[in-house]
Amino acid sequence: MAALDGLPTLREVIAEHGLSARKSLGQNFLLDLNLTAKIARAAGDLKGSDILEVGPGPGGLTRGLLMEGARNVLAVEKDPRCLPALAEVAAHYPGRLTVIEGDALEIDPLAHLTPPIRICANLPYNVGTELLVRWLSPPAWPPVWTSLTLMFQREVAERIVARPGDGAYGRLAILAHWRTDARIVMTLPPEAFSPPPKVHSSVVHLTALPAPRYPADAHTLSTVVAAAFNQRRKMLRAALKGIAPPGGIEPLLLEAGIPPTARAEEIDLERFCALARALDAARSGAT
Ligand code: SAM
Repeated sequence: MAALDGLPTLREVIAEHGLSARKSLGQNFLLDLNLTAKIARAAGDLKGSDILEVGPGPGGLTRGLLMEGARNVLAVEKDPRCLPALAEVAAHYPGRLTVIEGDALEIDPLAHLTPPIRICANLPYNVGTELLVRWLSPPAWPPVWTSLTLMFQREVAERIVARPGDGAYGRLAILAHWRTDARIVMTLPPEAFSPPPKVHSSVVHLTALPAPRYPADAHTLSTVVAAAFNQRRKMLRAALKGIAPPGGIEPLLLEAGIPPTARAEEIDLERFCALARALDAARSGAT
């Protein structure tokens, strides 16, 4: 039986190529091409963009991206069992799909793509979070990519879009809000996947801002925020002791408009950026 795009259905592809899902690779596959096309549309203008897809698996989202008109898709997949199935998709869309076998944590194929570049992925959540932090953390901004459209466990997606005072507010929210507009565009129940995971999943769409919302050094901001939230129940004057310059952290907190007795979860992005700048100024004054 043919699917929407004239290729075999994803169930047939999985059966034909023996792609039994492997837990160690976080394999929960999307089988509904209507759904993968909808995720692809959430990624924005595909016709005028090159797409990096990480973890194509049997090709459900890849086919969604191609059906929706993506100019070029470059897909990185760690599981070699998926390559023959992906080769059939590439043959159906001549010249528009390239597949690289490898670990997306070890190879960075962005240099092979032509801007505008959009990144789209349904990845195991730990790999997805690690890649998200890397994509948000280059020293210079704007990055080479225009947008990220990524599937996460719903709880992780909520941490990305959280604001001060939300229980989910922390390092991911600050990194995302500093340099992007981030929003949840879709939430899917476990039954949307085969096999179904234990929890709901959400797609987060992040658009790169032309410049960060407030000036700060990326590395210093990341260090400050990591230290602040590693001990999130502590007052900041205690939580940040480990990164204090010789003059102590309290004068810098006050300079940034932060009460030294406040806790990290109460502090907004603007004040964390002010603290990162004060810390850099104190360090350069000390040298
Ligand atoms: N995109 C497909 C879909 O939506 O049905 C598959 C999604 S499945 C959740 C995650 C995919 O990422 C699997 O195909 C898995 O083999 C692949 N994967 C896991 N870790 C990876 C890594 N480090 N680099 C590249 N691919 C990886």
